[in-house]
Amino acid sequence: MAQMCSTCRGKGYANFGNGTESCPMCDGTGVAWDPGREFTYEMGPFTLNAPAVAVATNTQNYSGAATTSNLLQGVSCQIANYPFRCMFVMSRSTFPFAIQPSDAGSGSGRYFVPQQTMVHSENFFGDSRHPMPWPTPYIFQRNQNITANVQDLAGATGFASVTNGSPNVTWISGGLFNVATAFGPPFPGAGIWAGATINIGGVNYVISSALGSGVTSQTTLVLAANYAGTTNANIAYAVSNTIRIAFKGQELSNQAVSAPPAS
Ligand SMILES: [Zn+2]
Repeated sequence: MAQMCSTCRGKGYANFGNGTESCPMCDGTGVAWDPGREFTYEMGPFTLNAPAVAVATNTQNYSGAATTSNLLQGVSCQIANYPFRCMFVMSRSTFPFAIQPSDAGSGSGRYFVPQQTMVHSENFFGDSRHPMPWPTPYIFQRNQNITANVQDLAGATGFASVTNGSPNVTWISGGLFNVATAFGPPFPGAGIWAGATINIGGVNYVISSALGSGVTSQTTLVLAANYAGTTNANIAYAVSNTIRIAFKGQELSNQAVSAPPAS
């Protein structure tokens, strides 16, 4: 049960001598401000452009979800038994991604970005070292889902040719190797795949980050160490993006009342 506002005693309005006005302490809600308890929800981790051998775990909450596609629709994170006032959003990911988050509990599934639009992760979450504040906090109702459509922007899956004892990987089909550079600090100009993990036939290797090495074209890349498996002219590869999304704020135990008590 909600604690009522001590200024208006839950009525939502008060008489300050100039007639009746909406209560300034509770914005006319009649409910006392609830400082709440610090709480963090996390969506994920989930992996896009995952190797075919990856097995999803706990898919109900998309914790451990994995797909060979670059897109997951309707990933979710359930709010527990108290309303949750979201004040910060954060993300950690291998590569940047695009996202369309929504409040599935709002009836219409209200989106936090325009419909049919996916927003670049850094524009929604900041750079993850600095949480992105929501100047207008949003309250998710209890037992409802925060959902999101998420699309990887930098990984790929496909087939390549490799030779035992050689660090060279040659593209055959599927997603081309990513020759883009990472943006922003700390290392602008570095290849976005430099030092990244590439799964070849179910085994993880590291792409070289040495100067002039790494991804040398859309069809050729160099590993940090020699390929140690069996020579194969058409083997599956995957450069994956593993993503975790966090919502930080407060659990509210002082739940909203349906109507203030009669005066
Ligand atoms: Zn009040």
